[in-house]
Amino acid sequence: MSRQGKGSRRKRNALNNARPQNKKAAKIRRRVKKRAIFDEYLSNGCSKCGSCEDLTFHHLRDKLFTIARGKNTDRVSVGKFQAEIDKCVVLCLDCHKVEHPEMNRKVA
Ligand SMILES: [Zn+2]
Repeated sequence: MSRQGKGSRRKRNALNNARPQNKKAAKIRRRVKKRAIFDEYLSNGCSKCGSCEDLTFHHLRDKLFTIARGKNTDRVSVGKFQAEIDKCVVLCLDCHKVEHPEMNRKVA
C-alpha cells in the first residue's frame, strides 16, 4: 500500500519538472485569474457604506491568509484563493476599523 503512494508522488514530481516553461506560464495564468477574482469583488465597493475607496477584505471566519493588493499569493491555488475570498466581505478602511477596534492603520 505505502509503496503505491510513494510511486505516484514520484511520478507527479517528474511531470512537474518536465515542463518548466509551462509551469511558469501556469503561475502567471493563476496570478491573472486571482487578480480578476480580486477586482471583481472590489468592484461592488464597501458592503456596508458602498464606498469605493481604500477597500479591504474583512474575514468573517477561518482566516488562513490575508487578501490584499500587492500581497503575494503565488503559492496559493486559484481554488484556495477563491475559497478564502468567499469567507470575506469587502469593507472600506473606515468600516473595517469598526470591525477591528484594535486596528489602527494596519489592515487585518
Ligand atoms: Zn465602508
